[in-house]
Parts: sequence; C-alpha cells; structure tokens
Amino acid sequence: MTDPTLLSAPAFSEADLRYMQHALQLAAHARDAENEVPVGAVLVQGDEVIGLGWNRNITLNDPSAHAEIMALRAAGEKLANYRMPGATLYVTLEPCAMCSMALVHARIGRVVYAATDPKTGAAGSVFDTLISDRHNHRIAVEGGLLAEEASTMLREFFRARR
Ligand SMILES: [Zn+2]
Repeated sequence: MTDPTLLSAPAFSEADLRYMQHALQLAAHARDAENEVPVGAVLVQGDEVIGLGWNRNITLNDPSAHAEIMALRAAGEKLANYRMPGATLYVTLEPCAMCSMALVHARIGRVVYAATDPKTGAAGSVFDTLISDRHNHRIAVEGGLLAEEASTMLREFFRARR
C-alpha cells in the first residue's frame, strides 16, 4: 500500500518554486509600480519563459487585464500563436472564471497557483471552470505553492488601502 499522504502531497519541483518566486516578484511590481492588486503570472513552455504578466486593470482601463491574460497575450505575441500547448502557467492567485476559460482556449497544460481566492476562484473555491471535465481540453491544476507569501502580500495590500 502506498502511503495516502504521499499521494496527496503536491509534487512541486525546484523549477516550480523558482517560477513562482518570479511570479511573486511580478505581483510586487504590480503593487509598487502601478498600485494594482498584487497578482503576478509566469508562463513557461519547455524550460523557456514565454510570457510574463501582472494585474493592470487600472493602468489599462481594462477589466480583462488580469495577470494571466497579460501573460497569455505576451506569449501569443512572442510565439505568433494563440495556443501554447503543454505550457505551464504559474500565478500567485487562484485564477478567476474569465482567466480559466482563456487558459483552456490557449491549451495550457498545467496551472500552478499560490493562494486560493475565496471570492472569485475558479479552481474549485467558487467556480469549477478551471477543473471542469466538461471542457474538451483538460488542464492539470495544483495549488498552494508559496501560498502564504502570496496571500500575505494581498492581505497587506488591501489593509493598506483601507
Ligand atoms: Zn482572472
């Protein structure tokens, strides 16, 4: 018998950790440079970073300018392709329903997120968009990597704004 705790333990690699740390740096940049909600995203294909993103809703007057969308747009431009099959998206907050559908459309292979989002999370917290088996494309989803760092940054940001 395999130890069930081993099965449920998230299998994060050194590379996963490094990319999520980069995403956290982008989240801090959103906060410090643009006074945006601190969420950052790094999109990786193979071992190449193909897109970086951070929240820019206020800066761009764009409700769709979430970190994930910005990373997808950057990658699409770089690759001259709207699909990024097998790519992994690292994001500091559980994706919302809008971003989840965009990730499905882009044929992303895997999503690793840090903090859960009890208000709009679509990887099971509020909606199941990212993890639904009704899509014709399935994405592997893992949460909780550097969750404490990411949620502390968000909590302090909203506390400071009050
Ligand atoms: Zn989103």
